[in-house]
Amino acid sequence: MSIQIKNVSKTFGTFQALKNINLDIPDGKLVALLGPSGSGKTTLLRVIAGLEAADEGTILFDGDDLTDAHVSNREVGFVFQHYALFKHMTVLENIAFGLKVRKKRDRPSASAIKEKVNELLQLVKLEGFAERYPSQLSGGQRQRVALARALAVEPRILLLDEPFGALDAKVRKELRRWLRKLHDEVHITSVFVTHDQEEALDVADQIVVMNEGKIEQMGTPDEVYDHPASPFVYDFLGNVN
Ligand code: ADP
Repeated sequence: MSIQIKNVSKTFGTFQALKNINLDIPDGKLVALLGPSGSGKTTLLRVIAGLEAADEGTILFDGDDLTDAHVSNREVGFVFQHYALFKHMTVLENIAFGLKVRKKRDRPSASAIKEKVNELLQLVKLEGFAERYPSQLSGGQRQRVALARALAVEPRILLLDEPFGALDAKVRKELRRWLRKLHDEVHITSVFVTHDQEEALDVADQIVVMNEGKIEQMGTPDEVYDHPASPFVYDFLGNVN
């Protein structure tokens, strides 16, 4: 699923968080939105998700205008840094949640749900964890469950907002490599918000560098790192060439 963002602006009160954003996200790519805190990354992700309405501009998914579509009609999956799992539910129940709340005619049977959850647990390498509660998991394992939950409804697009931001450096590194592999296995378009240059350079197909509500540059990690388009990108990436 490709995403096209055309002339999107968003203002909160008097503060313009997004300033005429134009961006094409190709099908099947893992794209990082990279920039300092306050540059508009999360706002752009929320506009793509339909959690926030743009003041101006259009959003197309595979050419279909979804600018005014409700979040539930966009078929997106989310993983957020603080998108906590339900504490009173097991791993199985957490992952199955999105399937159980579907409209009755789309709702799978209990045995189909169990089979689907087991498939997802295999995918996120947590076989045998179905009956555990979130309190019995490490931070990294919880985010893997969050990812399985996001994928359970077979979204067309996966949106991740600093998914590993709360984890320590070693786990972060392991998980971002793992996310890269998973992204390739499930053939999905993913948009990933991070303020960590190393993370973006390490895992993304394309990096979108944001600053003060605008896109400073978009390109492959090599293009962005080797040929920063502005002094801002040069400084932000700590580029030394
Ligand atoms: P980033 O993800 O790059 O840190 P955000 O998109 O979260 O940036 O925020 C961009 C700017 O918009 C920030 O200055 C933030 O304070 C402001 N902002 C974001 N959401 C709201 C909101 N709901 N109400 C008011 N201001 C907001």
